[in-house]
Amino acid sequence: MSIEDIKKIGIVGAGQMGNGIAHISALAGFDVYMMDLNESAVAAALETIDANMTRQVRKEKISAVDKDAALKRISTGTGYDGFADCDFAIEAATEDEQIKREILKELCAHIKPDTIIASNTSSISITRLGAKTDRPGKFVGMHFMNPVPAMELVEMIRGIATDENTFKTISALAVKLGKIPVSAEDFPAFIVNRILLPMINEAVYTLYEGVGSVLAIDTAMKLGTHHPMGPLELADFIGLDTCLSVMNVLHDGLADTKYRPCPLLVKYVEAGWLGRKTGRGFYDYSADQPVPTR
Ligand code: NAD
Repeated sequence: MSIEDIKKIGIVGAGQMGNGIAHISALAGFDVYMMDLNESAVAAALETIDANMTRQVRKEKISAVDKDAALKRISTGTGYDGFADCDFAIEAATEDEQIKREILKELCAHIKPDTIIASNTSSISITRLGAKTDRPGKFVGMHFMNPVPAMELVEMIRGIATDENTFKTISALAVKLGKIPVSAEDFPAFIVNRILLPMINEAVYTLYEGVGSVLAIDTAMKLGTHHPMGPLELADFIGLDTCLSVMNVLHDGLADTKYRPCPLLVKYVEAGWLGRKTGRGFYDYSADQPVPTR
């Protein structure tokens, strides 16, 4: 399979990453099948894509004609039949190894023998996920950043069994989607999250130990290090469940106590306070302006 053979892209999971990948794939001229557990998740994803493309039209980044053509290229569903004619499939579902394993098993039963599969996982071993498929050579890590339409980077991760053609083809696909691929080895959380998530976890410890309030921590990091977002604001944006999963993967995978997830992060996730996507995390998003919760 080479980049010219890829005409249709299938996406499992229509959350913030899945709908972003559908968005840029359709704009780049690919047919897209986007799938999630239920109709409401798929409908919400389509609404998000429409709203995000409308914003791009308003900013004159794309034309209204581009937007309409792209939306027409996206088909959706809640089953695996739509993957049958996909040349490439990417898994972008919840960051949970068991869920991803079950998805990969189903996916392999529904796709063509030469279809390449990628996972957008933030932290889970590509080698281990690939081993659960019927095609470890045609399995690769393709880690987009959030929000997908705006962020330039894609981390490309080779599992131990990933063949060179697969890696080259999907790296070329990243370029065709307007991104810049960077190669990362298959170690827990790869490059960006290996560095970013311990910083976020440390910000939660800083809050937990009372060193500063939510606002003090975010303001200090924005003004003191010129980060565009504070670490707690960023954690809410990523999703606190995803942040916790990545810390658990680092902690388990590298067996170093420096990666111990902060108990306050665990508590927020247990409370269902997952950040922006649930309306509450370190900030409360129910009013027009986010309000710090501590
Ligand atoms: P999300 O919670 O917004 O979306 C996950 C989606 O997966 C949900 O819509 C859920 O219904 C769906 N899903 C769960 N089980 C499914 C199944 N069995 N079949 C089909 N769909 C299923 O999460 P997200 O932020 O989009 O993250 C998705 C993946 O992308 C994770 O692996 C995450 O680590 C990774 N990622 C996230 C970010 C980020 O900043 N949020 C950045 C890069 C990569």
